[in-house]
Amino acid sequence: MYQTMMLIDGEQVKSLSGRTAVIRNPANQEPVGQVFLGGREEARAALEAAERAFPAWAATSPAARGKILHRAADLVRERQEDLARLLTLEQGKPLKESRREIQASADVLDYYAEEGRRIFGELVPSASAGSRSLVIRQPVGVAALITPWNFPVDLMSWKLAPALAAGCTVVAKPPSLAPLAATAFVQTAHDAGAPPGVVNVVHGPGGQVGAELVENPISKKIAFTGESSTGRWIMEHAARHLKRLSLELGGHAPFIVCKDAHLDRAVEACLRRAFNNMGQICISVNRVYVAEEVAEEFTNRLVEQTQRLKVGDGLDPGVDLGPMFSQQQREKTREHIADALEKGARLLCGGREPEGKEYEKGFFFLPTVLDHVDHSMLVMQEETFGPVAPIMTFQTVDQALELANDSPYGLAAYIFTSDLSTAFLAAERLEAGGVGVNVNNVAEIQAPFGGWKQSGFGRELSHYGLEQYLEIKHIRLGI
Ligand code: NDP
Repeated sequence: MYQTMMLIDGEQVKSLSGRTAVIRNPANQEPVGQVFLGGREEARAALEAAERAFPAWAATSPAARGKILHRAADLVRERQEDLARLLTLEQGKPLKESRREIQASADVLDYYAEEGRRIFGELVPSASAGSRSLVIRQPVGVAALITPWNFPVDLMSWKLAPALAAGCTVVAKPPSLAPLAATAFVQTAHDAGAPPGVVNVVHGPGGQVGAELVENPISKKIAFTGESSTGRWIMEHAARHLKRLSLELGGHAPFIVCKDAHLDRAVEACLRRAFNNMGQICISVNRVYVAEEVAEEFTNRLVEQTQRLKVGDGLDPGVDLGPMFSQQQREKTREHIADALEKGARLLCGGREPEGKEYEKGFFFLPTVLDHVDHSMLVMQEETFGPVAPIMTFQTVDQALELANDSPYGLAAYIFTSDLSTAFLAAERLEAGGVGVNVNNVAEIQAPFGGWKQSGFGRELSHYGLEQYLEIKHIRLGI
């Protein structure tokens, strides 16, 4: 069994209480690792270590910080197979996807290693002849990085890399149920030469460890990805010290297929974005709106391709979809499907667990397509975070856009059309932080990622992601 400790002030630390938790494989519930669990005290120790390390790290040149980030990226690539295997074992996703996640995280480290050199200042014209105005950017201070279980490594890299590049020191809190690969990932920054206290990792319940990171005045910035309800709690409690926040919260992405869409591409894109990672992605396709003229063909093709997806243990080659992360996620998915069927939806495929001995112990579920859905149903209102594609038809693009925007969430939205004007006007009208036109992914290292409405605020990736860890200072100089 893999054993993982906390990292505080450059030391591997067990926990004051000696408490541990066993991490289990969602494919068969067998133990894969053991983690030492801390509480508020360990979180405080980590924050204090980060506070002590901050002045020297902030004063380190961006080029020197960048070297450490590049080295960390190299270590991640060297350790890729171990990290990917660990990720599959604790999270369930197929190994090929875990490999992609690890590679992408190394790329993010490399990107910010360079972007950190471009923390520019400005010389602003002054109103008076006797003064000059300089604007500089400086690191905000100790940053707390709190992440969920669906992309535990990727989402940690989106925070760790810009924070370190900006000159912040960090305390990372990986998700309690999938902390192994994320901890091993953060460890690479330490192994790459980040001085003691610059990078810390604490484990333990969000309500204790996470809460301490949020409430303790030492942390000046909270970067959080997770549920909207947790984000709301964090915002309320961080308000006491008016901390800087970036909150990447839930999503409920619409996927619009116009009558002039390239259907092969639309079906393929929908299939992947609805079911990858078993729909446990904040930018998953949650609602499919198809023009009446092409609805039958689109639906038939989607169902046919969905039924071909291979569900199984993520370590088995050839598997497209692993198990769901937890029983809780599977139950929620079942509830959403049952609610839709009760209200008149039609089940076209899936809707149940696969049959066979190999599926008995894991949280497996078949990818599901529904049609005849409407907005009274939970699947069209709440984030299912499960492998369900509910299809509704529309007559005009205007109608589709209204339906798409009829949600409290606004993280990602997708539209498939061959008409440039439709694409442009729709992209402008969709209420989301990212719009995919004829593509099913809005995450790009060089571009900002984040939400509108109840999907949160603040941006990750790109130079906008770096800005989140910087304060602006005006220096007025009398000459
Ligand atoms: P949670 O909000 O339950 O947990 C996220 C992290 O917050 C975990 O590390 C958790 O710790 C911690 N936490 C829990 N309570 C507190 C607290 N009071 N103070 C501080 N930290 C706390 O989310 P899930 O792990 O269930 O992740 C799934 C959610 O994440 C989905 O809603 C999904 O949409 C969203 N998400 C959003 C993305 C985006 O970019 N917008 C991307 C990916 C996911 P612990 O594990 O110990 O409970």
